[in-house]
Amino acid sequence: MAMAMATAKLVLLMVLVAGSSCGGSAWRGPLSLLRTLPTTTAAQSVEAAAERLKEDLSSAASSASASSSLIHALRPLMGSAGDLGLRAGVPCDSWRLAVETYNKRDWTTVPGSCEGYVGHYMLGGHYRRDSRVVVDEAIAYAEGLKLAGNGKEVWVFDIDETSLSNLPYYATHGFGTKPYNATSFNEYVLEGSAPVLPESQRLFKKLISLGIKPVFLTGRTEDQRAITVTNLRRQGYSGWMDLLLKPVGLKATAIAYKSGERQKLQDAGYVIVGNIGDQWSDILGAPEGARTFKLPDPLYYIG
Ligand SMILES: [Mg+2]
Repeated sequence: MAMAMATAKLVLLMVLVAGSSCGGSAWRGPLSLLRTLPTTTAAQSVEAAAERLKEDLSSAASSASASSSLIHALRPLMGSAGDLGLRAGVPCDSWRLAVETYNKRDWTTVPGSCEGYVGHYMLGGHYRRDSRVVVDEAIAYAEGLKLAGNGKEVWVFDIDETSLSNLPYYATHGFGTKPYNATSFNEYVLEGSAPVLPESQRLFKKLISLGIKPVFLTGRTEDQRAITVTNLRRQGYSGWMDLLLKPVGLKATAIAYKSGERQKLQDAGYVIVGNIGDQWSDILGAPEGARTFKLPDPLYYIG
């Protein structure tokens, strides 16, 4: 509260000072109030206001430092990051950041109160923008690589939420707030209707043009190969070197399974120059690849 009052006073003071140096007559803001005062009184008022502001800021700073350090006195006025989540009653943006940075692990569902937040994030353009930054970095990295010229460089792509989007499914199932339902999700997969993730496909096509071979490595199972190929082709993917699916019934964590498949690629003489996925389990576990890229995914967690 002290901070808010201090910042409000600062704004008023700035208006007063700015107004006092402005000779225009059309403006009828606080300057007109100032003009009703004798000059000396106005100057004294400004000085007094400045002194009170100084005291208030000092007071606010000391009270803020009791719980956290003050970064900048104006920051709360500017609506810094965090407000949107807090307005919803839960800091959903902080929750999402913890998920993306792998500070939060082993979670099963999106917090119920964050359904709207996640939905807006996924559908409102933010998700696409975040993905674009990741892919821009990946392309810049790929363009800077010196290739051996023997056709052995490969780039590993995950499929779900990396190459294809299951957002149509999640949009009708609570945006990840409901427990995973293998039956209904697999029914959706078998439709082969998952749309492309355009930024990832931009990377995919760029890599082919550079001479780097894409390899799909997915947690989808071998019995979903045909529909997965159909879905990928429907969405404009072609020219991949391999599509690696999980054997039906294999009991292994995602990290163990995927790192094992990457090891096989490496043992066969391929050089994994890049690896991109939406889950941390896509990009953890040696050999990860020379460089990894994490796409956003606040919908679900695969350990
Ligand atoms: Mg995935």
